[in-house]
Amino acid sequence: MRLILLGPPGAGKGTQASSIAEKYQVEHISTGDIFRYHIKNNTELGKKVKEYTDNGKLVPDELTCEIVWERLDREDCQKGFLLDGFPRTLQQAEILEQGLKERGQALDSVISIEVPNEILLERLSGRRVCNSCGEPYHTKNKSPKVEGVCDTCGGEIVQRKDDLEATVRNRIQVYEEQTAPLIDYYKERDLLLSVDGTKAIEVVREEIFATLASFSSKDC
Ligand SMILES: [Zn+2]
Repeated sequence: MRLILLGPPGAGKGTQASSIAEKYQVEHISTGDIFRYHIKNNTELGKKVKEYTDNGKLVPDELTCEIVWERLDREDCQKGFLLDGFPRTLQQAEILEQGLKERGQALDSVISIEVPNEILLERLSGRRVCNSCGEPYHTKNKSPKVEGVCDTCGGEIVQRKDDLEATVRNRIQVYEEQTAPLIDYYKERDLLLSVDGTKAIEVVREEIFATLASFSSKDC
């Protein structure tokens, strides 16, 4: 199985990606992890990425794709993969499609976890965390017994910069501008499976498995 998982920030993509990869016995390829690996180990690709990020520049699509292909061409990905965080732009999707074609491979499906913006905003901007032990809280459904004080360690509960409302709105907007066009791109190629991401994690997971099962049996 060669799969892509799409979804806005706050859609629960990472959690679902792990479950899918485990069930279908394919490698979970998170581009965030690959980038961190190359930078930490100071590889040739990592050095190239750092040249951009150190200067506050975006990593070009060609370099991102080169890094992804370096990973996808390894032995453990020959039986399949689940891409998480890639492709992020239409150009990356086109480069991926071309690369697969050259290798005589093709995607099986693209799963899109869909969540309305208001819900994403509420999920992400309501996040709080203890700055001593890292225990997560949420203004909507997980408040500490004493306001601002961690139940577990008595530490201070704070809101991360990433979860500030303005930051969250910006992250959602970037997704809409750059990544949402991929939904139409894959729909045109008959690869898109949309899943309602507003439900509980376990419900969404079961829906993904059911949709994938019905989609793959269609081909037989
Ligand atoms: Zn704590």
